[in-house]
Amino acid sequence: MIYPIVKYGQEVLEKPGAPVTKFDGNLEKLVADMFETMYAANGVGLAAPQIGLSLKLCVIDVSCGKDPNSRLVLANPVIVAAEGEQAEEEGCLSLPDFRAKTTRPLHATVRAQALSGTEFTLSGEGLLARAFCHEADHLGGKLFISHLSRLKRDSIKRQIRKMVKAGEW
Ligand SMILES: [Zn+2]
Repeated sequence: MIYPIVKYGQEVLEKPGAPVTKFDGNLEKLVADMFETMYAANGVGLAAPQIGLSLKLCVIDVSCGKDPNSRLVLANPVIVAAEGEQAEEEGCLSLPDFRAKTTRPLHATVRAQALSGTEFTLSGEGLLARAFCHEADHLGGKLFISHLSRLKRDSIKRQIRKMVKAGEW
């Protein structure tokens, strides 16, 4: 099932999600739907708040569906180490068509639980490190625009307000 993606302005995107506590068939179904929703939107990551669920759960696939081995499910992820710096264009399915150069760690290590509930630690660099940080932010109620300069952020917010008024958001 493909969920509609919640856009910036909805409260669920800006509050911390509840921890995942039940690792059961319902979670499996939800994760499958999140992958389907993410691929349909051509995203490389999707967090549960983006489909309206205030839950610390996200899926990532930096291969955009090309490599089944790069499918990642992170429940209750925490960034436990970060190193270096990269400044690349970043976007978000909840802020469609807005991209901005965003500084992130070049290497990041995340500790999370898998679909089974088993805890694991995984390190990534480049786009994967960026995805870890972007999705962990979502689960804490934070969006990538919070990393931009105030000027840039206000400009994006102003453009969105205009689109909301025009019924285009
Ligand atoms: Zn996002």
